[in-house]
Amino acid sequence: MYLEHLRTQDPEIAAAIGDELARQRASIELIASENFVSLAVMEAAGSPLTNKYAEGLPGHRYYGGCWAVDVVENIARDRAKKLFGCAFANVQPHSGAQANYAAESVFAKPGDTVMGMDLSNGGHLTHGSPANYSGKLFNMVSYGLSEQTERIDYDDVAAKAEKYQPKLIIAGASAYPRVIDFERFAQIAHDNGAALMVDMAHIAGLVATGAHPSPLPWADVVTTTTHKTLRGTRGGLILWNDEELTKRMNSAVFPGSQGGPLEHIIAGKAVAFGEALQPEFATYIEGVCANAKALGRGMEAKGLRMVTGGTDNHLLLVDLTTAGEDVTGKLAENALDEVGITVNKNTIPGEKRSPFVTSGIRVGSAAMTTRGFDEAEAERIGELIGETVTHLGDEATLAAVKAEVADLLAAHPLYPELG
Ligand SMILES: *Cc1c(COP(=O)(O)O)cnc(C)c1O
Repeated sequence: MYLEHLRTQDPEIAAAIGDELARQRASIELIASENFVSLAVMEAAGSPLTNKYAEGLPGHRYYGGCWAVDVVENIARDRAKKLFGCAFANVQPHSGAQANYAAESVFAKPGDTVMGMDLSNGGHLTHGSPANYSGKLFNMVSYGLSEQTERIDYDDVAAKAEKYQPKLIIAGASAYPRVIDFERFAQIAHDNGAALMVDMAHIAGLVATGAHPSPLPWADVVTTTTHKTLRGTRGGLILWNDEELTKRMNSAVFPGSQGGPLEHIIAGKAVAFGEALQPEFATYIEGVCANAKALGRGMEAKGLRMVTGGTDNHLLLVDLTTAGEDVTGKLAENALDEVGITVNKNTIPGEKRSPFVTSGIRVGSAAMTTRGFDEAEAERIGELIGETVTHLGDEATLAAVKAEVADLLAAHPLYPELG
């Protein structure tokens, strides 16, 4: 029985976990940063490795009894290097934000100038938001999007790099539906004496299979999460090629910013990297990209505008101003929740509302593709999103959408093995 011991010992927590599983089963998950890991990944993450202290690196630990976790961490590192075709990897960062902190600290000291993408244009908190350590430690200069194309304005990046002479330029985003030109970023950074850090947190799964060009030939360091399109346990990863950086990079993780590594989570990463090295993962990522385009076609059929006109990856940014003057991201998110579709509100380029309200939603296909939805279903789900956001408050339409969503979900059960 699933959660056998927990149910007996701590029924309150067991019930809440059961509720969360039920919630995941009962909605079409379109949050672009989420996915569903395999049962094998979950078993590794829930293993006795959680008991082990292993400060340091494999073969050089500050604790005894590390031979078994050394095997796990070495496999995780080797698979990560093979998957992304690079020379060095650190699999210990507890999260994407931790990986970014460590990598940034190698290239920039407090007070140094660092350039990152503006949060409201699709960047991440750790790329210089004033609310985050990055905005407090560094003198942050942000670049944004071209108003016409809604794509990264590389000329603006180049002009700002020349003007501000940053120590580090950060490329990568949380809500950018198009290919990022890492070669161009590297050229701009290196022409101006800056290092380039690429944060591929969202697109790591696409990079692993070649569905998005890899930053590794160009960037000085690459950081990522392991739990988004890469479909592993929740965590971070740092990759690089220059041996000269190795000591500083590893020290920036431990002891620079973390204590003991989470070896159970590292085991989950290792299993996920192993899965990503299989040919089935490339097929999965093809499905992710096809489904994102299909979701977009469905929404466009109902009159919604996709920011940049579409997508090259696993996500879409939807401009809701085309759905009606009063349709905000917040209202859309709530209405979609009611019919069984989970998305998040998101700012759009040129946003006029607050980040708590917004004029857009972000829609991603990674989790729904894992669940088994195909292109035809994705297009229909796009239409249902369009129906919902253009019929806020129309009970009859929303009830019909909800019933159709329930049928779609029933056709693709999630974790049936868990009972
Ligand atoms: C999700 C994300 C992160 C942070 O990951 P956490 O594991 O939540 O800390 C960092 N950078 C980008 C671009 C992201 O999208």
